[in-house]
Amino acid sequence: MRNKLSNAICATLLMASFSTAAQSKDVLTFLRDVVSPETGIGAREAGTEQEQQTADYVKAQFTRMGLDVEVHDFKHPILKEKDKFLLSRNIIAEKKGKSEKVLVLGAHFDSTGSKRGSHGAMDNGAGLSVLLAVAEQLSKLDSLPYTVRFVAFGAEEIGKVGSRQYLTMLNDKPGEIERLKGMINLDTVAGGDKLYVHSAHTTPYKCGGDNSRYSSETWMRQAVLSASQKTLGMEQAHQIHPPFPGYPEGVTGEWSDHEPFACYGVPIAYIETTNFAINGKHGFDGYSQSTDPGLWDCFDKENVTACDREKEKKWGMIWHSGSDQLELLMGLFGDRVTDQLNANVKVLVSFFSEPDKFIKQ
Ligand SMILES: [Zn+2]
Repeated sequence: MRNKLSNAICATLLMASFSTAAQSKDVLTFLRDVVSPETGIGAREAGTEQEQQTADYVKAQFTRMGLDVEVHDFKHPILKEKDKFLLSRNIIAEKKGKSEKVLVLGAHFDSTGSKRGSHGAMDNGAGLSVLLAVAEQLSKLDSLPYTVRFVAFGAEEIGKVGSRQYLTMLNDKPGEIERLKGMINLDTVAGGDKLYVHSAHTTPYKCGGDNSRYSSETWMRQAVLSASQKTLGMEQAHQIHPPFPGYPEGVTGEWSDHEPFACYGVPIAYIETTNFAINGKHGFDGYSQSTDPGLWDCFDKENVTACDREKEKKWGMIWHSGSDQLELLMGLFGDRVTDQLNANVKVLVSFFSEPDKFIKQ
């Protein structure tokens, strides 16, 4: 009886620990769940059933982690189709901290280029899976200094619709924008040769005609950089990109979900992987993500550009192309994709756990 009872207790305890372990997911599992057409969702263009499925998946994951979840539905006019709208949504989860002030971690979950064969694996399955993995780890902590808000944006690829709608909604509620201390945007955070972190451009974005509140402050970028250097070491850490025409050192354009935040005066940091040392289609602008010959028709190693600039079609790009498939990239890069995903998770968990150690305002 005694034995039987203790066996029963052991079995129960074992089951409990097993089920907790089974429920918890790592970054690569999140990524596969979202981007694999065979075992997950695959391409997720804005307004499609697959985008909706991804939103449901993200919501279910946040709920499982025990976070407070909100769904923000919106519609957007379909170009060239009068009176027709596509439906999309943002999924927002929060982990309350000691301070009411909010640090936002954001990533879009839609994809583009499915006609060219893109599964949206790196753009932006990678960003979304890092967001979920960071949320998973932070959800287990007893307390955090600042409230951390995880926002998965819909419909980024058709004009940052989700993030713009989100900021418009916050702006309608008194005091909500002021609560935002800073924002980190994750877009294409794996795949490219190098890990970078950017700040908003020193020349204000257009901001729909009103950029009077625009912030180009760099301290969020510097804080992420400093957390990265501390966590990964100088060799492996995120980098600041060198200057290129129209873009001073370390600043980025308005092409992702950080834009509306900067427009409403929220300091941002934007993590992406690419390679600014490649002489790409339009020069050294970070659009060519990798020197890997598999991503070029022909790559000239010595001059770090296409063998024939007239004939090159692929230009080392992953985003929006048929190369944005997980298994294909893992075949080209080996462990690199997983290493970059894990590096981002590690840095961000360390940053959100002790932000004031890294923030120098
Ligand atoms: Zn993207």
